Amino acid sequence: LVHIEGLYKQFGDNEVLRGIDLDIAEGEVVCLIGPSGSGKSTLLRCVNLLETPTEGTIAAAGHDMTGPDADLDAARRDIGMVFQHFNLFSHLSILDNIAIAQRRVLHRSRSEAEAEARRRLAEVGIEGKEQARPSQLSGGQQQRVAIARALAMGPKLMLFDEPTSALDPELVGEVLSVMKGLASEGMTMLVVTHEMAFAREVADRVLFLDGGVIVESGPPAAVLSNPKTERARSFLHRIL
Ligand code: ATP
Ligand code: MG
Repeated sequence: LVHIEGLYKQFGDNEVLRGIDLDIAEGEVVCLIGPSGSGKSTLLRCVNLLETPTEGTIAAAGHDMTGPDADLDAARRDIGMVFQHFNLFSHLSILDNIAIAQRRVLHRSRSEAEAEARRRLAEVGIEGKEQARPSQLSGGQQQRVAIARALAMGPKLMLFDEPTSALDPELVGEVLSVMKGLASEGMTMLVVTHEMAFAREVADRVLFLDGGVIVESGPPAAVLSNPKTERARSFLHRIL
């Protein structure tokens, strides 16, 4: 469902991604770990072309992202993204936050979009908050709304960039459990995270990125418990 070949990205003379090859199968959950500045967010943002690669080819969710005829709008409808900061519209109700893109981008009617919004809110365990503003919800609830918003578009692939890093510790679990549910329903997911217990339990594969290169890749038990490289060992030692 994702095929990346020879991906390079530089900002000025800062070479951030230096030759990434990555395939993700349908239904696979891949966790991406690595030190700050190693290029995790840049890699994620290249997948839906929020960043333009300097070199390389990317296909995602059935779309050629880097070819001359790439239809990025169509592609992004099939690729959901959830950020560290939830990026909800503060002046809109929870229901409208989820309905608005469906109406504008998918041209759903108000009633269709709201029905889908209610279904997705139930799926992430939020009920009775449809008319609230984002600021009236906890961080964990807001992040679950952001996930519901992405899901309402019917994505084939979900990208998560440190979705729990901005949350108080006691709110992390409720967001991870929603993500776990998604994974068990077969959603294809690429997740940047520092939650090693989540990676261990949910990921099919863990990638360790360092200096813009995938230094280790394998099942979580292998990469997290028995890393081959000194760089991965010292990183894991620091965060565990
Ligand atoms: P963190 O764990 O801190 O989120 P990261 O692994 O996600 O780090 P990136 O955000 O991908 O790292 O950044 C990698 C490098 O690219 C950093 O040196 C950063 O300064 C640089 N960078 C990222 N985005 C831009 C940009 N839009 N313009 C210039 N430089 C950028
Ligand atoms: Mg980042």
